[in-house]
Amino acid sequence: MADNFEKLKNGLTKTRKGFLGRIAGAIGKKRKIDEETIENIEQILIEGDIGFSTSMKIIDCLREKYKLSKEYDSNDVFKIIKEEILGILKDDNELFEYETIKKPWIILVVGVNGTGKTTTIGKLAYYYKNSEKEVLLAAADTYRAAAVEQLDIWCKRAGVDIVKTQQGTDPAAVVYDSIKAAVSRNIDVLIIDTAGRIHTKVNLMEELKKIKRVIAKLIPDAPHEILLVLDANMGQNAISQAKEFLRATEVTGIVLAKLDGTAKGGVIVPIKLELGVPVKYIGIGEKVTDLEIFEPKRFVDALFSF
Ligand code: GDP
Ligand code: MG
Repeated sequence: MADNFEKLKNGLTKTRKGFLGRIAGAIGKKRKIDEETIENIEQILIEGDIGFSTSMKIIDCLREKYKLSKEYDSNDVFKIIKEEILGILKDDNELFEYETIKKPWIILVVGVNGTGKTTTIGKLAYYYKNSEKEVLLAAADTYRAAAVEQLDIWCKRAGVDIVKTQQGTDPAAVVYDSIKAAVSRNIDVLIIDTAGRIHTKVNLMEELKKIKRVIAKLIPDAPHEILLVLDANMGQNAISQAKEFLRATEVTGIVLAKLDGTAKGGVIVPIKLELGVPVKYIGIGEKVTDLEIFEPKRFVDALFSF
């Protein structure tokens, strides 16, 4: 997994230039912030995908401070925004276990087509493999031949094994076989890829429920992790997409992918506020190492590194 602050910082460039850059522009060289500037900042924040309620909170905070001290510069404003965002993203009660406690540790990966599921699985497989774990992948997106091939490529990249069948096979059957294989081969981590689109949304959600039932039948407390992959480029739309998955299945963590290519990275704030599911990983590129465990302080520091 990536442990390169520069990489994260670079990945967040578009988001930084997006709303933070515009705010810097609105403030300009002013030493005093007037009402007009505050209103401009308000507009930029709302457009910056960080959500209405958070934007309002930041603006209230700015108005309050602005009343108290007239002399101001952009650093003060950024400090307020940074603290507010960190306050939301950081939750001291959330201590996640990234360790795989049981064997096989079963991770089910869900999400709409194209969000980055297969890529994330490849990165996770690589991470676990390099943590001395035996990893197996299950190609349960059987709806497209390309999907199986793509996972196959990632499995070679990560140096792990795969359970796959022909296109059109019942995904639940692949899942069944993969769990049997994982148990008999004493695998540490089994990661299951799923389809992101079937004929209808209802079918997709029913399919996921069925997969979950099959898993639980073989290993009652599994899946141990259900990761929902969201594409940061989708901005606010990622939230409504997530809500549909949350209604159908118990998501234990969010992976926010493609933070490197988007100006909409601020969406991590409403994701945290509105979904009630922790963001566990962030995707910051297409390479096998471009996945990070989400650490709020590190993330916010990178975002605000000008
Ligand atoms: P899936 O349909 O959900 O399995 O999505 P894929 O894993 O196939 O990814 C769709 C596209 O997004 C591919 O072109 C990936 O290379 C790209 N992608 C996935 N994750 C990231 C990321 O973190 N950063 C960037 N820049 N691209 C990504
Ligand atoms: Mg896929």
